[in-house]
Amino acid sequence: MALLEVTDLRTYFRTDDGIVKAVDGVSFSIEKGKTLGIVGESGSGKSVTCLTIMGLNSKRTTITSGEALWKGKNLLTMGAREFRDIRGSEIAMIFQDPMTSLNPVHKVGKQLTEAIQLHRDVTKSQARARALELLKAVGIPRPERRIDDYPHQFSGGMRQRVMIAMALVNNPDLLIADEPTTALDVTTQAQILTLMQKLQEEFGSAILVITHDLGVVAEVADEVVVMYAAQVVEKGPVERIFKRPHMPYTWGLLGSLPRLDSVVDRLVQIPGSPPSLLNPPRGCRFHPRCPYVMDVCKADDPALLPVFDDSDHFAACHLDHETKDREAAKLIAGMMAQAS
Ligand code: SF4
Repeated sequence: MALLEVTDLRTYFRTDDGIVKAVDGVSFSIEKGKTLGIVGESGSGKSVTCLTIMGLNSKRTTITSGEALWKGKNLLTMGAREFRDIRGSEIAMIFQDPMTSLNPVHKVGKQLTEAIQLHRDVTKSQARARALELLKAVGIPRPERRIDDYPHQFSGGMRQRVMIAMALVNNPDLLIADEPTTALDVTTQAQILTLMQKLQEEFGSAILVITHDLGVVAEVADEVVVMYAAQVVEKGPVERIFKRPHMPYTWGLLGSLPRLDSVVDRLVQIPGSPPSLLNPPRGCRFHPRCPYVMDVCKADDPALLPVFDDSDHFAACHLDHETKDREAAKLIAGMMAQAS
C-alpha cells in the first residue's frame, strides 16, 4: 500500500475576482522510502498541492475536495488534533527559506530540543543529546559549539541543514521539501541534495520534493510528476521521463536545463507564460504556448493516459505516439550531444 495516495485533489481559492482553481484534479502516490519529484513553473500548483496535503491553507478562503490518504486515512477530512499529531511527527516539511521554520530570536539548540520534547517523552538533557546527534547527522561542523548559535550566525547552506535536522527530529515517514535548494549556490545545492539522499537511506523516510528544476529531480527522484496550470500533464519513473518524455511542456522544461544550446534551440525555452487560473484556456491549457498545437488541442482537454503499454508512464497530449517518440528522441539526442 502507498504511504500517501492523492486522488483527484482540487484546491480552489475564493478571491474578489472569482474562483482560482489552483489545483485541479491532481493524483499521485508515494511509496515508503521512495522520492517523488513534483516539477513545474511558478504557479503550476505544485506548492499549493503540498500545502493542501499538510492542511496549511486558510479554511475560510479555500474549497478542497478529493482524497489524500495517509496510511489509509484521509488527511483532508481528519480532525484538527489528529492532523496536528501527524504533522511534524509522521510528516515534516522543509521550506525554501529556512527562516520560515526557524525562529530568529532563539538558539537552534533550544528550538531543536523543544521540537523533540513536543513529540517525545524525554528529559531536557536527552533532547539536547538527540539535537546534537541530528546536527552531526546533517553535517554541521563542531555541533557541540554551534548548538548554542542563533540562526543568523549560520550561512544559508548551514541554515538549510539545521532546518533539515529540525524536520528529522521525529524520524518522519514523509519529508516534504518545497524548493529546498533554490536559494543556494550550485555547490551548496549539490551538498544538500546528497545530504537528503544520505539521510533518506539512514532514516528510511519517503521524500516529496517540489521544484521548478528538472535537474534537481534527476538527482534525487525515483518518480516524477510534471504539473502545468494546476494539472498533472505527465508522470512516471524518472528514467522514463528523462529517456522518452511524451509531452511538449516536459520537452520545454528539459530544453530549459542549462546544458542545452542551439542543437535543439526551438526547445531551449518555453515561449509565453502560464495562464491565469481564474480563466484557464479551453482544451489543453498549454496550447497557447505549444509549438505543436493543433485544432483539437484548442477544443478538447487531453486525458492523462498511459504511454503505449507502459502503465507506469502517463502523458496528457493529443499528439500521435510517433510524433512524440520522434521529437523526444531528437531532444534527448541533442542533450547527449551537448553533454559529451
Ligand atoms: Fe501541445 Fe496539443 Fe499536446 Fe497540448 S495537447 S501539449 S497543445 S500538442
